[in-house]
Amino acid sequence: KRGFYIGRFQPYHNGHQSVLEHIAGKVDEIIIGIGSAQLSHHVDNPFTAGERVLMITRALTSLGCPYYVIPIEDLQRNALWVAHVRSMAPPFDICYSSNPLVVRLFREAGCRVQSPAMYEREILSGTEIRRRILAGEPWKKLVPPAIVQVIKEIDGEKRLRQIAMDD
Ligand code: ATP
Ligand code: MG
Repeated sequence: KRGFYIGRFQPYHNGHQSVLEHIAGKVDEIIIGIGSAQLSHHVDNPFTAGERVLMITRALTSLGCPYYVIPIEDLQRNALWVAHVRSMAPPFDICYSSNPLVVRLFREAGCRVQSPAMYEREILSGTEIRRRILAGEPWKKLVPPAIVQVIKEIDGEKRLRQIAMDD
């Protein structure tokens, strides 16, 4: 059985890690979709698809379940989005998502969907981590150590602060 999980992972954080560890116990293989893959260098989407691939693979070295990471660009047509996803990913039997729109679109397309529990959602959110980086507040405890390393390698804190500035 193969499970599908999609996120933008801007950046990948401990909430994503907890969900994936949960899914790893339920399926034989996991497909991780990187959504809005074409976006980078925006305040809400600072990292490239390739940088997010790096974050995910470095964080999941001991997941104990085979997985594929598939970047998926946006399609400006929600009604066709699940078909688009299916055309890019290996076949899967179940989608794991707590995002209401994603849940809706997959169910309408006839796909089985399960919504994993949320882990400390007030602080484990990409929005909160990007806010903290911009505000110069502590954020490193909210992501796996491998993500701190990747963001350092790509000078991600400085990038986010610079692209948030006015000219
Ligand atoms: P952003 O604030 O940028 O939207 P996010 O934290 O919601 O970031 P996404 O990449 O949008 O992260 O989320 C991917 C998936 O992970 C979504 O289905 C989302 O509901 C889920 N998710 C996000 N944070 C958590 C969390 N703390 N616990 C469990 N699931 C989470
Ligand atoms: Mg989100």
